[in-house]
Amino acid sequence: MASDLTQPVTELSGVGKAAAENLESMKIHTVEDLIWTFPYRHEDFRLKDLAETPHNERVTVEGRVESVPTVLFLGNKKSRLQVQMLAGRHLIKVVFFNQAYLKNKLEPGMMITVTGKWDRGRQVINGTSVNFGDQNERADFEPVYSVKGKLSQKKFRHFMRQALDLYGDQIAETLPNELLEKYKLVPVTEALEGIHFPKNLDETKQSRRRFVYEELLQFQLKIQTLRKSRKEDEQGTSIHYDLEKLKSFFESLPYELTGAQKRVVNEICKDLLVPHRMNRLLQGDVGSGKTVVAAAMLYAAVTAGFQGALMAPTEILAEQHADSFSEWLEPLGINMALLTGSTKAKARREILERLSTGEIDIVMGTHALIQPDVIFKRLGLVITDEQHRFGVEQRRILKEKGENPDVLFMTATPIPRTLSITAFGEMDVSIIDELPAGRKEIETHWLKHEQFNQVLQKLEAELRAGRQAYVICPLIEESDKLDVQNAVDVFQQLSTVFHNKYNVGLMHGRLHSNDKDAVMREFSEGNLQVLVSTTVVEVGVNVPNATFMVIYDAERFGLAQLHQLRGRVGRGEHQSYCILLADPKSDEGKERMISMVEMTDGFRLAEKDLELRGPGDFFGRKQSGLPEFKVADLVHDYRALETARQDAVQLVSDDEFWTHERYANLRKTLEQSGVLDGERID
Ligand code: ADP
Ligand code: MG
Repeated sequence: MASDLTQPVTELSGVGKAAAENLESMKIHTVEDLIWTFPYRHEDFRLKDLAETPHNERVTVEGRVESVPTVLFLGNKKSRLQVQMLAGRHLIKVVFFNQAYLKNKLEPGMMITVTGKWDRGRQVINGTSVNFGDQNERADFEPVYSVKGKLSQKKFRHFMRQALDLYGDQIAETLPNELLEKYKLVPVTEALEGIHFPKNLDETKQSRRRFVYEELLQFQLKIQTLRKSRKEDEQGTSIHYDLEKLKSFFESLPYELTGAQKRVVNEICKDLLVPHRMNRLLQGDVGSGKTVVAAAMLYAAVTAGFQGALMAPTEILAEQHADSFSEWLEPLGINMALLTGSTKAKARREILERLSTGEIDIVMGTHALIQPDVIFKRLGLVITDEQHRFGVEQRRILKEKGENPDVLFMTATPIPRTLSITAFGEMDVSIIDELPAGRKEIETHWLKHEQFNQVLQKLEAELRAGRQAYVICPLIEESDKLDVQNAVDVFQQLSTVFHNKYNVGLMHGRLHSNDKDAVMREFSEGNLQVLVSTTVVEVGVNVPNATFMVIYDAERFGLAQLHQLRGRVGRGEHQSYCILLADPKSDEGKERMISMVEMTDGFRLAEKDLELRGPGDFFGRKQSGLPEFKVADLVHDYRALETARQDAVQLVSDDEFWTHERYANLRKTLEQSGVLDGERID
């Protein structure tokens, strides 16, 4: 009788108007939609021994009713039923809320199976369900779906049973045998049965494993296909840099590059040489030495006759880069210019003129670089620093100023490898995962706000020794809603405390960008000893003499951000300190503080952050760009993601994949995703 999977769900028996509406709101219209709606968890009904069950854990136990149930009516149709039960050696209480009707069903001496939350201290199970006697029809594992409205789990399962029985055999296998065999994956029909009606834990696991791999493979196929087509049709430029000159640049530095710096230099150099366009993300923890890598690569481009550009998110950063660059590159005869919003009109005209004639080799700047009248003669390499500060659009404009220039994005936000292959899947990623030798580790302490006086003493000691300090607050002004320290108040307090002794500055996001830069400059030139700031200070500023940082209400920040903030100190020869003032209420908040005290490696912290917050939150909503996965979980399934990536790379480069019948269904999912029509992710 059954025809195809696109039948509306109402074809299933029992799906009436109400159920159809509930299903509709779960985005289930067809039988196929239903089959691909997976449970979000499985309830484990295996019997457990209470002695081994931790407090507050869900548990299912079997036992004998030992008392006549008592019911307490709480008004408003609420009730509390209590009964004694002997489960194994444990005489416990079982409590049910709002199920007073159970009173007539539970009799002393009868065997029951109860599921609920185990309150170990009070020896009570807060019951959610009960089965009577040997009425043991329930499976050990039951899927739980996020059903809407009045639709019950039981009904939903009933629909699912029909759908699988009538239409299940029409679901096509997308994975070719070679992959099923290679990873011992369950075929699709079996896996669907195992997800929706598992007989045991292993079936659930095996089914899930299969769908996770399939989902990640399809995702990676999409990305790798995009990459491949991009490499094929985007003719870039070959930058034939002068290796000898590049070597002598490295020799002119006062230090040797770290192993990680050398590795990424090699990766980038390879990209420069080949004729397709480089699209690479350079990740390196704060202080890992990305600037010198950028300078070297821009210099390389110049030795090949190209111009280079470096865009930074703030004027002060652009200036800092310009300073380092001229120290390194001017002796080598490179012409450089700095172009920002405060460049005077006359100077600006001159710079634009010399850029268009090719007289300027390297230009550094802010958004000022992407104005329409900024024209290059032969732009070959574009680098953006702290890439997350720029929008996609700004990055695109800059790279369109050349003819397919190579592009390098730098970021100090360590992104866990798991996420970077996903989020930046069609970018190549280089990682500097090593700090220059001899860095002193920043000492981090977690104190309560009430201990601020201790902190103040330590702060003053640093100032007396000639050092500078940052004091970070979450808010700008007093807000009646939040009981949180704000920058303006703290600024006033510290100004009073340090009156006539030290100069205190204030910086926050509501200042005009010129004023922000002015304050920052005062601080970096040492005219201010203390800078009270909101998190606007987090981006790459380098004031090596600043050795002390206090972060108020530190529990309000995520780990990645705390790490960025902390990276403002520890940049010079002196021992640095970071004090977290926090009274976190949640366990997660406490764990974050402990992680900050214990870990200094940004990548490890990022992994921890991901673990605590989950991938959805990681990038913040705005720039997440992360695909939503149905079964896969980027934290737990990162190995599968890597495997899928390798398989996808191999598949798309294999002609058979594009022609052979056994890949037809995999190709179909690619076609449906629109990738093959030249859709672009950028
Ligand atoms: P970031 O990656 O955060 O931008 P920077 O490029 O500002 O880091 O480098 C931080 C500091 O480390 C700078 O003072 C820089 O001169 C120094 N540095 C970079 N590479 C090395 C190295 N290989 N050995 C020693 N110091 C280095
Ligand atoms: Mg930097």
